[in-house]
Amino acid sequence: MQLPFFLAKRFVAGEDFSHAAPKVRELNEKGISVTLDLLGENVTDRETADATTREYCELLDGIHEQELDSTISIKLTMLGLDIDTEYCRQNLFTLLDKARERDQFVRIDMEGSDYTQRTLDLFFDARKKYGRHVGIVIQAYLYRSREDIAALVHDKADVRLCKGAYNEPSSLAYKNMTDIRAVFKEYATELIKGTDFTRIATHDDHLIEWTKRFADENAIPKDKFEFQLLYGLRLSTCEDLVDEGYRVRIYVPYGTMWLPYFSRRLRERKENIWFILSNMFRK
Ligand SMILES: Cc1cc2nc3c(=O)[nH]c(=O)nc-3n(C[C@H](O)[C@H](O)[C@H](O)COP(=O)(O)OP(=O)(O)OC[C@H]3O[C@@H](n4cnc5c(N)ncnc54)[C@H](O)[C@@H]3O)c2cc1C
Repeated sequence: MQLPFFLAKRFVAGEDFSHAAPKVRELNEKGISVTLDLLGENVTDRETADATTREYCELLDGIHEQELDSTISIKLTMLGLDIDTEYCRQNLFTLLDKARERDQFVRIDMEGSDYTQRTLDLFFDARKKYGRHVGIVIQAYLYRSREDIAALVHDKADVRLCKGAYNEPSSLAYKNMTDIRAVFKEYATELIKGTDFTRIATHDDHLIEWTKRFADENAIPKDKFEFQLLYGLRLSTCEDLVDEGYRVRIYVPYGTMWLPYFSRRLRERKENIWFILSNMFRK
């Protein structure tokens, strides 16, 4: 389906790096770090996966050349996870060679539950070889996450904790917000206490306030964790957090393949749909 880009521009920083880079700089000037995400998922041919790997490597060069405060986030299905796991590993390692050369950091986003085990396996392999240059994401809503968190804490891995964005069945995931918030807090506690630095990815005021209180009551310094939010959502919350001395990172997606990402943001909150519709009618 072809939709005009202006519909997505609240959540997507541009269709290429040249459009996204000034937005990254603007955020950096506000004291906000960024993770850039080249949009796309589920590549099924090697030509596209090879091209994507090259594009990510060029992105790391571009961030370096423009001296931006930005890491990158990737999806393994864009590097060929649906084609062949070994092939995907080669692409991931090619990218991580570049990240190490640039003293950069690559976060592997977590996709739907069909990919969880393979994503974690590849992450642990990459972590052995590339150490602090690679990180992972855990979705609190999955029942399996308790065990995954234990293994990641044991490894002192760099973890972004989020609720989870995919429509998983109740046989695999909590569906109720009270349950999801409870496990989110449990895993955040383990990560903050057991690893060097934790990334709390949420727009949920309840969890943001809980994290601040937890850190305060346990004398956790503000430079031991960061809040992560998505581009286009709650910028004033990010600015307030920076003013209060917290670290903040915004996930900035860009690229032409924005439709699946954009659709997930719309599904998450009806306010997002109203925002898009009201903008449509203003055009
Ligand atoms: C940086 C980042 C990276 C992510 N990476 C992944 C990933 O790799 N894999 C994955 O599956 N998911 C990822 N997600 C998505 C995540 O899993 C959730 O789907 C998404 O963040 C929605 O959950 P939430 O906790 O932000 O808040 P929600 O559950 O959407 O909202 C809960 C409450 O927060 C408050 N709130 C939220 N938004 C607003 C607003 N705009 N204005 C006012 N109040 C608001 C309201 O009180 C609301 O009831 C990521 C999210 C972030 C922020």
